[in-house]
Amino acid sequence: MQNWPGLIKAYKKWLPVTEKTPVISLKEGATPLLLLESISRRIGKGVKVYAKYDGLNPTGSFKDRGMTMAISKAKEEGCEAVICASTGNTSASAAAYARRGGMKAFVLIPDGYVAQGKLAQALVYGAEVLAIRGNFDQALEIVQEASKNYPLTLVNSVNPYRLQGQKTASFEIIDCLGDAPDLLCIPMGNAGNISAYWMGFKEYYKANISKKLPKMIGFQAKNSAPLVENKIIENPETIATAIRIGNPVNKQKAIKAKIDSKGDFYTVSDDEIVQAYKILGKEEGIFCEPASAASVAGLLKIKDKVLAESTIVCVLTGNGLKDPECAINNNDALFYNDLNPNIKEIVKIMGF
Ligand SMILES: *Cc1c(COP(=O)(O)O)cnc(C)c1O
Repeated sequence: MQNWPGLIKAYKKWLPVTEKTPVISLKEGATPLLLLESISRRIGKGVKVYAKYDGLNPTGSFKDRGMTMAISKAKEEGCEAVICASTGNTSASAAAYARRGGMKAFVLIPDGYVAQGKLAQALVYGAEVLAIRGNFDQALEIVQEASKNYPLTLVNSVNPYRLQGQKTASFEIIDCLGDAPDLLCIPMGNAGNISAYWMGFKEYYKANISKKLPKMIGFQAKNSAPLVENKIIENPETIATAIRIGNPVNKQKAIKAKIDSKGDFYTVSDDEIVQAYKILGKEEGIFCEPASAASVAGLLKIKDKVLAESTIVCVLTGNGLKDPECAINNNDALFYNDLNPNIKEIVKIMGF
């Protein structure tokens, strides 16, 4: 859609912006809502499962929805430098938008736990990358402290403008389906996104644009599940590095979304995540990152609880190209290498 103006301009009456806000945009938003035929068939019971493919945002994750807001407001307030802690996608997005807005971007990452594509982006977008010997939660404590004491705007999801931007994904889903879905399945790390979606669904419902509210179903990776286990996880581990978080900052908001929506939280194992990741790739033609596949893995896991004829949206938060290492190590492809450049040999392998 050539005329899509980016989400701030498209949804400005729902967002805390004025005529004076300098809009810093890469025309994020308006991502596809795709029917997942193979997944729907696996659930059965006449259920329709859709993917909100937010990995098709400008930097390849939903973080762009929040970042266009956070950076535009930072610019409006005269900020010259932003800072964030990141498992990768926030740093890529913060760097892109900050630089586009003429600001510096400092990003703290857990050394060795950021997928290659995300690190590549932060570097190319011109961030100043600070890799710490520690995990995401420790990086976040540092940036929170730094932003209190120095002229730095914090653009993690504690920044309220982030969630404001991210809530537009719910608007798009309703604009597309004509109503809210029955279930919204979403991976949780810091749990900002589930909180933002819930805010968006409530706002459209209150304005009578939608007739129902979805149940919010959040999924965490098994050894990184502070919200399911209701305790801080000191050393979270999972293949899904984007949700490798032990102490989510939006915990209270997420719990409220769960209770108010009569939803639930569950864990999925790394094996279940990889299964869903492969199915999405080879049966749906959708390449997402492992954290994103947690939403589909979770839905498959709870399929017996799903009511017949439900409409379900799974949020695919990030693009598969972000984490090539995961892709290369986790696929069922037939890959023949070291072949002679000889047609007879080649077609023989193809089975002719
Ligand atoms: C940030 C991120 C998440 C987690 O989102 P929260 O708002 O922290 O819960 C999930 N998937 C991907 C790909 C992400 O980048």
